[in-house]
Amino acid sequence: MTLEIVTKFGGSSLANAEQIRKVEKIINSDNNRRYVVVSAPGTDKNSPYKITDILYNIFYNSRKSGKNTISNYKKIPLSQEELLKNIHDRYSSIASDLGTGIDLIKYFDKELQDLLKNKKTTVDDVVSRGENFHARLIARYLNARFVDAKDLIYIDNKNNPDNDKTMGSIKKLTILKDKKIIIPGFYGNTSANMKNAKIKTFARGGSDLTGALIAAGVNATVYENWTDQNGILCVDPRLFEDKREVEKIPVIEVMTFKECRELTYSGFSVLHDETVGSVRKRNIPINIRNTNNPSHKGTMITSKSDRRQTIVGIAGRDGFCTIDIEKYMMNKETGFGQGVLEIIAKRKINFEHMPSGIDDMSIIIEEKALEPFKDEIVNEIKKKFHPDNVKVTPDLALISIVGEGMFYQIGIAAKATGCLAKNKINIEIMNQGASESNIIIGVASKDYKKCIQLLYEEFLKH
Ligand code: ASP
Repeated sequence: MTLEIVTKFGGSSLANAEQIRKVEKIINSDNNRRYVVVSAPGTDKNSPYKITDILYNIFYNSRKSGKNTISNYKKIPLSQEELLKNIHDRYSSIASDLGTGIDLIKYFDKELQDLLKNKKTTVDDVVSRGENFHARLIARYLNARFVDAKDLIYIDNKNNPDNDKTMGSIKKLTILKDKKIIIPGFYGNTSANMKNAKIKTFARGGSDLTGALIAAGVNATVYENWTDQNGILCVDPRLFEDKREVEKIPVIEVMTFKECRELTYSGFSVLHDETVGSVRKRNIPINIRNTNNPSHKGTMITSKSDRRQTIVGIAGRDGFCTIDIEKYMMNKETGFGQGVLEIIAKRKINFEHMPSGIDDMSIIIEEKALEPFKDEIVNEIKKKFHPDNVKVTPDLALISIVGEGMFYQIGIAAKATGCLAKNKINIEIMNQGASESNIIIGVASKDYKKCIQLLYEEFLKH
């Protein structure tokens, strides 16, 4: 069996020539690292703006209305001329530092100018150039083969990959054995029929997904995702003030896809679900690594782990509330719970959990999702079900203690509740799914930070 590794490097790993030299070493240190997916240059000490952000600004400045439709658009306070110069200077300085020849930059400038002149050009055409130009530059520097993502990745109108077509075209890459292959991340094409084809980007951060799709398509042994951190920390460092404490937080060595999903859902920013989903189906492990510290093994995400450690990480999110409903003999009323949930669902609001007793139930919902409908939902519940009491309780934080090893262990919940009780933290709700891969604890928002810190000390601190 051939070992094929797909590597994806993020914007900070490719922000300048010095970083690209590190990437070169990493790629060349293992012949199996054959497929390389690249992001556009990110920020670095001399460049405060990401290339992608600059390109969004350039596109919207070039259009009369100047209106943008993307959610996380960052307005950059520079003129159009300065923005264009920024793009030119970034790529030129990288090219001249690497000695790849500045002629390529002339093509980039011309291509961008032509796109901006053309009325039919879309925002995706323009922003995709960030990864496209960078992949071409890096391919030339590494004497590797550039393969355009528009010929590999097909994206539907909901911005999701069209898996069948995409897998079919990526598979063909495996015939190209002569050189390493460099592929721009973040974008693809709307149709395999070149006549109607249009460039389309994924959501921001989408190069992770490109990497996962390439890994799935070539059936890689591992998908390496190179970032600027040693791996995934077992608890969110932003919840700790003491810098020395933050430095001691352990990196998760191994976790399962299921644990990764639980932690991501509960507040960790790891990889997008869609990214994980693409490789998980084929049992391809993901290895999160640090370009600035390549000897560190990073975090491995796999389908199974023989790790001995019970708890893998603790995540949390603040900003929830509960709809609390009480009614004497609620347990005898068939369809009560279903009816209440329908009232919520018809407003397209998701609920998180639903702890209940015999005569009461609470529905946990994100505060900002409920807010616009709060009164009408409460009134409808009153009118339809005549409860003894219904109220909305705000300021709830949810904390997840995650680890598949809990299934085999007795006493984890007791340990968690014991340590919170000792520190006088009131648990408002507690929930554990049948798979026993996580315990969810709800506490008042004011106790959120303290609660995570205590649980971290109890379960994960070395
Ligand atoms: N360059 C794009 C972004 O900044 C995509 C990526 O880096 O994954 O979102």
